[in-house]
Amino acid sequence: MEKILTVDNLHVTFKTYGGTVQAVRGVHFDLYKGETLAIVGESGCGKSVTSNAIMRLIPNPPGKITQGRIIFKNKDLTRLSEKNMRKIRGVDISMIFQDPMTALNPTLTIESQLIEGLRQHKKNISHRAARQKALDIMKLVGISNPEERMKQYPHQFSGGMRQRIVIAIALICEPDLLIADEPTTALDVTIQAQILELFEKIQKVTGVAIILITHDLGVVAKIADRIAVMYAGKIIEVGTKREIFYHSEHPYTKGLLQSVPRLDLKGESLTPIDGTPPDLFSPPSGCPFAARCPYAMEVCDKAYPAQTALTGTHQVDCWLQDERAKKLLAHTTTI
Ligand code: SF4
Repeated sequence: MEKILTVDNLHVTFKTYGGTVQAVRGVHFDLYKGETLAIVGESGCGKSVTSNAIMRLIPNPPGKITQGRIIFKNKDLTRLSEKNMRKIRGVDISMIFQDPMTALNPTLTIESQLIEGLRQHKKNISHRAARQKALDIMKLVGISNPEERMKQYPHQFSGGMRQRIVIAIALICEPDLLIADEPTTALDVTIQAQILELFEKIQKVTGVAIILITHDLGVVAKIADRIAVMYAGKIIEVGTKREIFYHSEHPYTKGLLQSVPRLDLKGESLTPIDGTPPDLFSPPSGCPFAARCPYAMEVCDKAYPAQTALTGTHQVDCWLQDERAKKLLAHTTTI
């Protein structure tokens, strides 16, 4: 498969009055054409900061990409000028945000909002051609009677329909990469299902690669090809959907999966992950999950574990995968 994005050793910090928050700490992943990579983790783990960094939407100050590279189509986005980045944003890489109401301009018709982005990036396109493109994209995202509905304003649409329009705006320039940050969180469950089906349909038709940012494992189970699990600013496990759901090895990933409600386990209480994530003003030098991990060993507090490749697609950062730990764990919990 053709690789379209590499995020390599990305570090992002935010300066505050209380100190410097190390929000993203050495994130690495690749993304391939036509696949959906879900980035999951609890609030504050750095998943949205990672996606905003790819779009170069980190406000500087207080935020800053302090290290790393973001290679998209052979260009390092961290080195591009804002002018050149504007040519990529919305054209080659588009983003969908959580709340469709705040993403749309309430004073403009849907037609103007669809055509505006297209004409800004494709200067030579005629108004007629842009309008036709807007009609086609509205049909693709499942809006019936698009001729009439294009003349309306955002408040005349339901929440689900507004999210379809936001998706249409993101797709109108035919991007290679779509970043969806919690795209279904503000919607009720039946509309969520429709929007997820829409993502699948769009990917089949356009071949766009999708990065899906979410804390909802149900959403991930429906549409992701691969899953990257983030904790305290790092990707601690990555694998295919099957590897993460059925063969996860990191204690945090296992904890996340155990805390999801299951219809087949009636009457049983959920198993929460005790404790809280570490303070990212001064993150621990060892494994950031050590204070909450039931398997923590002495070494976990002292040094961050190296990445272990379990298969060609499944990697995990945990000392339990170290050969010395595997040998010694049968006798002792200290290595
Ligand atoms: Fe638990 Fe240690 Fe693995 Fe971290 S490295 S998840 S503390 S066993």
